Amino acid sequence: MIGLNLRNVRLRRAIAPLPLIQRRIVIYTPPLARLIEQLQKLPSVGPKTAQRLALHILKRPADEAQALAEAIVNARQQVGVCQTCFHLSADPVCTICRDRNRDQHTLCVVADSRDVIALEKTREYRGRYHVLGGVISPMEGIGPDQLTIQPLIRRASQPETTEIILAISPSIEGETTTLYISQLVKPFAKVTQIAFGLPMGGDLEYADEVTLARALEGRRELL
Ligand code: ZN
Repeated sequence: MIGLNLRNVRLRRAIAPLPLIQRRIVIYTPPLARLIEQLQKLPSVGPKTAQRLALHILKRPADEAQALAEAIVNARQQVGVCQTCFHLSADPVCTICRDRNRDQHTLCVVADSRDVIALEKTREYRGRYHVLGGVISPMEGIGPDQLTIQPLIRRASQPETTEIILAISPSIEGETTTLYISQLVKPFAKVTQIAFGLPMGGDLEYADEVTLARALEGRRELL
């Protein structure tokens, strides 16, 4: 049976059209094909955009391409996460955590570093953050242990923490995560949730700054 199946696979391979990338090598000279292939792995970059970007890079001076390549490699090598809040940082402790002028009593819990960036752009929030690294999602095999929930509990239990703001985008998984965390940190501090003027599934990252500032201002206590 196994031999038969293998023959079938070989037969199918022989008659199947070549995958897109193999056909593209015929169109593009190999180094260009490789560049397009890599660019296409980026989010929101389809084949046409990848081609446009690649041809643009080739038209620009060589040192610009070098700078782009170096910036990618350096960022990938140097940027890790802050050991306190888990926001992206090239230093062991990020600039937000090091800033003693920020409100040390408030801790804003977000799913991702992108949310920290979105909230920082509002210039409304002056407290500290805690980045979970995702949301609880049994479908994707993400449980509480895969997130930075234990460090969050340790930070929540510090006497200086008086308010914990939960700012997790409102999806089914987001709501589950909010509920789960609120139960865990309630014994230590006042727990609030930001008032999303966003539809279910609306992403923190895509909310405009005014909406996000209002959502923060209108946060309500989770009882
Ligand atoms: Zn930090």
